[in-house]
Amino acid sequence: MAPSFYFRPATIFASKPSSSYTLLFLAILFIIGLYTLHHHHDTAGTPGNALHFGDLFLSAASNYTISSYLRRLTRHPHVAGTEAAVQTAMYVENHFRDLGMDTFVKHYNALLSYPAHASLSAHFSNGTVKAAALAEQGSAGNDVIPPYHAYSPSGSAYGKAVFVNYGMEEDYGALAAQGVSVAGCVVVARRGVAPRNAVVEKAAENGAAAVLMYSETEGFGDGVERGTVMAGLGDPLSPGWAGVDGGEILGLNDKEVVRRFPKIPSMPVSADTAEAILSTLEGPRAPSEWKARALRVGPGPTMLNFSYQGVKKLATLRNVFAMIRGSEEPDRFVLLGNHRDAWTYGAVDPNSGTAALLDIARRYALLMRSGWNPRRSIVLCSWDAEEFGMIGSTEWVEQNLLNLGSKAVAYLNVDCAVQGPGFFAGATPQLDDLLVEVTKKVKDPDSDDMTLYKKWTTTSNGINIQRLSGVDSDFAPFLQHAGVPSIDLYYGRDFPVYHTAFDDFSWMIKYGDPLFQRHVAVTGVWGLLALRLADDAVLPFNYLSYAAELQEYANILSTLLGGNVFLRPILAAIQELRDAAKKAEDEAMKMRVLETAGNLMLKQRALNDRLMFAERGFLDAEGLQGRQWFKHLVYGPPRHHESKLVFFPGLVDAVSQFRRTNKNEGQAAMQHEIWRVARAIQRAAYTLRGEFA
Ligand SMILES: [Zn+2]
Repeated sequence: MAPSFYFRPATIFASKPSSSYTLLFLAILFIIGLYTLHHHHDTAGTPGNALHFGDLFLSAASNYTISSYLRRLTRHPHVAGTEAAVQTAMYVENHFRDLGMDTFVKHYNALLSYPAHASLSAHFSNGTVKAAALAEQGSAGNDVIPPYHAYSPSGSAYGKAVFVNYGMEEDYGALAAQGVSVAGCVVVARRGVAPRNAVVEKAAENGAAAVLMYSETEGFGDGVERGTVMAGLGDPLSPGWAGVDGGEILGLNDKEVVRRFPKIPSMPVSADTAEAILSTLEGPRAPSEWKARALRVGPGPTMLNFSYQGVKKLATLRNVFAMIRGSEEPDRFVLLGNHRDAWTYGAVDPNSGTAALLDIARRYALLMRSGWNPRRSIVLCSWDAEEFGMIGSTEWVEQNLLNLGSKAVAYLNVDCAVQGPGFFAGATPQLDDLLVEVTKKVKDPDSDDMTLYKKWTTTSNGINIQRLSGVDSDFAPFLQHAGVPSIDLYYGRDFPVYHTAFDDFSWMIKYGDPLFQRHVAVTGVWGLLALRLADDAVLPFNYLSYAAELQEYANILSTLLGGNVFLRPILAAIQELRDAAKKAEDEAMKMRVLETAGNLMLKQRALNDRLMFAERGFLDAEGLQGRQWFKHLVYGPPRHHESKLVFFPGLVDAVSQFRRTNKNEGQAAMQHEIWRVARAIQRAAYTLRGEFA
């Protein structure tokens, strides 16, 4: 539409050369008025606007800048709470400031945990004793933190070695079936699906004295995977609220604090160390379905002597933010987040994502100089202490719960942006369509003339979007505590140097992304998603996908549970959501067509609010039973990790419980959870419909 306005003045001027100056002046004023009016709408986010700046954003891509940011970020290891971490925070802060962005840093106090001393020796049946190498070769003496489990209690153990596979309930069941008890033993477990803290907890329940964990680090046999063993998210001393200066903190012996930490000590070891131990075990054969390194599970005869001393320390965390204020709706926020702290150098985890975030900042600044001003506000968030348990992001979410609940449109997370080849995405389902659309605009980094969308769909047999029930990155507090629609993006998975001293810049240029084109692709998707969410006059949310996804969950449950429960409440609620989603989508389509009309602002805003708030309907004030911090009844971690179900965590917990007990009360508990989920879906439907029930 723009050209017609530009051409008209020339016509007027040419056809009336002798008109009075007044007329000409008025005409020019009129034209300026029209232009301003139009221009004003243009920046308010017409599709043309989003398209234009989207193209500009993509054309400003640079693998050079991203790689230079990554090199700078990974010069030193920067574990949260250390001086190097402060330097890294300042680098990010200065980057935002230098771009002229509104930059601020929020400090939080949190209890972190560091290793002081550790030792491990194996006493073999032939009488030889061998001390295990506890760190990666060559990492000792430099400033990489020794391998440890954050928040492991200090302690020592001397006991028989026993192999427990992934250390899940079913593994202990298989061992018990062979007459193997792990009581008093030092358990050796491999890392699998269950979080570390769950593995330690399960071992303690079974009477183990200590736990050693290893992960398969193909080609990097002496790599050791550091990690946290704290249960739950956020600072343990300020559970559910922010750890701010002068704020309430619990004592170290408070039972709310104590229950976050394991009862027995644990430590990570390398695959090589594990192999050296496991190859000497006797006793029953490892079940063939375990497909494990160990041929036999023990216990013994090899004895392990293990000791660990750790220190817990209050540290200052720094979350760094850059804000681009929205021009039309400054009180609506699109958040892009990545954590900055790393166990070691963090070339993959997490600074491939940080480099992407910094490049998005650079490119957004460029767009602003070209006249772009987003309709809604955009916030770039750089979190601290994610590795210890999503602490930086969780404290911020807890402090801003109501502001986020009433104003956050979406949270877009990138942790390990690039671990290798292959695009992966997780999303809450109302964002599925947007995600797909955006990947059609971005070039696939690993082929010459294919879009990312094409490659993604051909390699994964159709669109494969994961769901965000895990607590493995900073989307967890946003979605599972605050109910903010979320996306998580990454390239590659299961990279062998995860949390080891080898996760450095040289690994990235040798294996992860030699040309940084995968970085460019993630940055493209991430930045475009935010542009659309910030600029589209009508939010690009489609709840029909949500209803379809929920229907799938209901179908799975119905197959699984048969006649044991009455699923109709959930099915009826899904139907309500589907109807509301259909209505909202029809309205949205109409408004998208009319969106340049100019007098629709309030109507758009009203519809957008319904789209934005519907996700909050899935939150429940009571939260998950025994884990009240988790408020979302559709997405959250199940308590029993052997469950492969990644939805309705409270209901899935009740199902697991029912299967163990098979009692009437188990059935009643399950039915109650079904009603809770049904009511949550209903709340979302009412919100989306925008009318009182
Ligand atoms: Zn990470």
